[in-house]
Amino acid sequence: MKIAAVEAIPLEIPFQHGGKPFGWGAEAWTRLSILLVRVTTDAGITGYGEAFSYGCRRAVQAVVEDMIAPLAVGAQAGDIIALNRSLQQKLHLQGRHGLTIFALSGLDIALWDIAGKAAGLPVHRLLGAVGGKSIPGYASLFRYSDPELVAERCHAAVAQGYRWIKLHEIHLPEVAAARGALGEDVPIMVDTNCPWTPAEARRQALALEPYGIHWLEEPIFPPEDFASLARLQSETGIALAAGENACTAFDFHKMLAAGAVTYAQPSVTKVGGISEFVQVAALARAHGVEVMPHSPYFGPGFAASLQLAAALPEGALFERLYVDLEASLYGDLVDAAGGEFRVPEGPGLGADPDADVIAAYRVSDA
Ligand SMILES: [Mg+2]
Repeated sequence: MKIAAVEAIPLEIPFQHGGKPFGWGAEAWTRLSILLVRVTTDAGITGYGEAFSYGCRRAVQAVVEDMIAPLAVGAQAGDIIALNRSLQQKLHLQGRHGLTIFALSGLDIALWDIAGKAAGLPVHRLLGAVGGKSIPGYASLFRYSDPELVAERCHAAVAQGYRWIKLHEIHLPEVAAARGALGEDVPIMVDTNCPWTPAEARRQALALEPYGIHWLEEPIFPPEDFASLARLQSETGIALAAGENACTAFDFHKMLAAGAVTYAQPSVTKVGGISEFVQVAALARAHGVEVMPHSPYFGPGFAASLQLAAALPEGALFERLYVDLEASLYGDLVDAAGGEFRVPEGPGLGADPDADVIAAYRVSDA
């Protein structure tokens, strides 16, 4: 079975986050980009992947179309790990991080979807797990920079059944408000997205101590400063999580060897797809580090992360970005029931994205 076509399908779906306008770039973030990678084979099987595209949709689409597709078409669809390795080698001049590996991730996920469909099995069973699982989720709150709003959103998430909450705040009053709202029994994670120098991070980590943080995520810039993360963790005793900015298992090898984290967070749409994620999980296991998938996604990245979480023998918490989308590619699969996400049992990623939603939210500005 050979790869017949690789197509990038850009979607933008409006969402609400319940706070003041906020964005990482020049504009407020109001629509989620989902770059689908649709792969068809000469056997008539179609697979869907997702390449990370927040803030870089048109650029990643160009990488899929101009760099990935020409190399992938004609290759054996079932030789996924070898093809992933071969493309990494052929494209290493264009970078081992960022756009190149994001685009490759989309292809790899689609090929695993195809492998599952060819075998008649969901990916978690291909990876050696049984079916019938649910994964406990955590509500990954937007950044509100407003203690009252943080408390309000914490209450809302717990009322919906979530038993774990992650904040994206960088100031103490918001963390204190969350702890006040949730009491002592709900674990809180704090994701800061690389704001501090090592010295600032140390001060902040010590200041967070009274709030009993379950993990502190990405406190240091640059994210690949693994030596400083390791020093911060050992000197303060706070558990660190990182990995969404690491690409390929080779990056994680360095992170884990440095003793930088307690929780490794590979992101399936960024790390190099399911093939690289599986290698990261094995490396983490050998280092005694737990894997917590980074998965603020609503496309095939979401479905693939669920399949992978189901195949982690240590279990995992599943990240659910706590926003409301105007439309869902996977119906109610993206909604937690009693704080848990059901792992779908269909072949491949468990379900295909909704064709009507794709048609309604496809954009054509590339
Ligand atoms: Mg994060």
